[in-house]
Amino acid sequence: MNVEIIAVGSELLLGQIANTNAKYISSQLSELGINVYYHTVVGDNSARLVEAIQIAEQRADLIIFSGGLGPTKDDLTKETIAKHLNRELVMDDMALQAIEQFFNKQNRVMTDNNRKQALVLEGSDVLTNHHGMAPGMLLKEGKQLYMLLPGPPKELEPMFQFEAKPKLAALLHDGGVITSHVLRFYGIGEAELEVRIQHILDVQTNPTVAPLASDGEVTLRITAKADNEQQAYVLIEDKKREILDIVGDYHYGDNDDSLASKLVEMLFENKLTIAAAESLTAGLFQSELAEISGVSSVLVGGVVTYSEQAKTMQLGISAQLINRYSVVSSECASEMALKVREKFGTDIGVGLTGVAGPGSHYDQPAGTVWIGLAIGNNPPVTHRLQLSGARNTNRLRAVKFTCSYLMR
Ligand code: ATP
Ligand code: MG
Repeated sequence: MNVEIIAVGSELLLGQIANTNAKYISSQLSELGINVYYHTVVGDNSARLVEAIQIAEQRADLIIFSGGLGPTKDDLTKETIAKHLNRELVMDDMALQAIEQFFNKQNRVMTDNNRKQALVLEGSDVLTNHHGMAPGMLLKEGKQLYMLLPGPPKELEPMFQFEAKPKLAALLHDGGVITSHVLRFYGIGEAELEVRIQHILDVQTNPTVAPLASDGEVTLRITAKADNEQQAYVLIEDKKREILDIVGDYHYGDNDDSLASKLVEMLFENKLTIAAAESLTAGLFQSELAEISGVSSVLVGGVVTYSEQAKTMQLGISAQLINRYSVVSSECASEMALKVREKFGTDIGVGLTGVAGPGSHYDQPAGTVWIGLAIGNNPPVTHRLQLSGARNTNRLRAVKFTCSYLMR
């Protein structure tokens, strides 16, 4: 099955809102292993909507519409599709009852316009709207499927997840289940990862394996179809093992994990405390850790030492060392890590220094980063990065690499 999403709304074309509905639906469909081939956006105009539908019918098995189910004049998705498919609009009693209740609860009087929202395309499977008034619809015309969803994300998202998705899963796989699992990698590029598991990507059928790169991370989504959860689990576990045998060194977590959450988890488990001295990241490392609840039992504190003087005054790094090696050096990163560990009395000290960019600084090109790690009483170790992103991308990558090195 392949899908085209048609988002209806002039406000999308005017640049007033972003098409987050298409993004949401696509990510949900990828969990089912369903391919979305096209995102289309069209204004609140019946003629242009019909054109878009005719094109979509030639290239998609399922067309999903978002928006235009409301009671006002510019809401014309339902009416346009009814005309296009030559179907009547009929009153759905359940939807009408829900709308009446909605008005009673708010002590408001219902208008005929609102009643219009309970009209559905004849023969469609109605998707209940638990967060608003307009019901959604799933409709079959020959082999072609159409799904209509309301525009407001707070209505569309739960309707898709709880009403539409199970119906699609059932359509796809009679009585079976579709489960997916995400593997997360850091420190390896998408291209290299794909090359290394090429033989797996080449022959995949069930489970399927889909790579995705964003924010310097690479994820692999494994999707299995099976008769029951237990069988799907076994299929996914086997595929996971096969993949991790090859690129397991770069695997840091699964599903909703983040580098920061995994690092904090590791610190919790090993009862280790941490402090950081940050120059180019100016507190970003600590801020990322602080997003995880309960982090206060492992994150003790830190300093932002942006200038040379701050490095000397806050951490006692000697002017001699700075003059000899510069602040963007292995020596300085290592000294920052040692001194901050001492200052806060932690098990781990982190020192981050570098050139965020865009220009070069201290004779070092933009994107040069030194990460110093002082762990226990061991001599500090340092890592050098040569990043190629924009200023803030480099700062965030420096933080992510720090997390990943600490977990090795
Ligand atoms: P309503 O009953 O609220 O009128 P509707 O189904 O008619 O809902 P629209 O009128 O098209 O939907 O859109 C309602 C609101 O939903 C928009 O003002 C916008 O805030 C949001 N919205 C619509 N389409 C999208 C989209 N593709 N992505 C994100 N938000 C959207
Ligand atoms: Mg509307």
